[in-house]
Amino acid sequence: FVTGKRKATEVAHAVWRSIVRKGDTVVDATCGNGNDTLALLKMVADERGQGRVYGMDIQDSAIESTSSFLKMAMGDDQQEPVKLFPVCHSRMEEIVPKDTPVRLVAFNLGYLPGGDKTLITVPRTTELALQAASRILSSGGLISVLVYIGHPGGRDELDVVESFASSLPVDTWASCKLQMVNRPIAPVLILLNKKDHSATAITTA
Ligand code: SAM
Repeated sequence: FVTGKRKATEVAHAVWRSIVRKGDTVVDATCGNGNDTLALLKMVADERGQGRVYGMDIQDSAIESTSSFLKMAMGDDQQEPVKLFPVCHSRMEEIVPKDTPVRLVAFNLGYLPGGDKTLITVPRTTELALQAASRILSSGGLISVLVYIGHPGGRDELDVVESFASSLPVDTWASCKLQMVNRPIAPVLILLNKKDHSATAITTA
């Protein structure tokens, strides 16, 4: 599903769709203008109203932008499953109710498109947020990190994400990296899958 015409976010969404089910709880760690939040809402929303998207962004303006984007796209009542918080994603464990199985934590790093380019994700809090995400993720779940490397600081952030990804134990995690090799500054997608040993046991039995 990787072609030159497809945007990196579309590729990420295609991967999410292979993991996320109706009724799941997921986290959008960087809401921005709400495009990813809307995609996630459509994936989890179910008739029983059990799906949840916990969204966060450090900027109040991004939370407002996401909220109005969802209202415009889905109407007032359809966005009930989305809970938005103007906080740093390193605090996601304070937001997602304890012991809730989380199927996906999505990061779309960098700055808010059309916003202040100095208000940007930074390696230290990104690393803390990845650690938090790895603790709340359920077995079989996915941490998806889209890293933009074309702006100052982008490559440092990629280093931190890759270093975190490569530190995950191989018996419980599968870490992989998707990168266009003929487009040196294209965004890099890092996918961290927490292995589901019960599923492995069934398929290998
Ligand atoms: N997912 C968004 C969308 O679909 O429109 C785009 C996200 S944008 C590339 C990155 C966002 O991360 C910005 O809105 C920025 O405010 C936010 N951000 C920066 N530092 C953050 C932090 N520590 N915690 C949460 N969000 C942060």
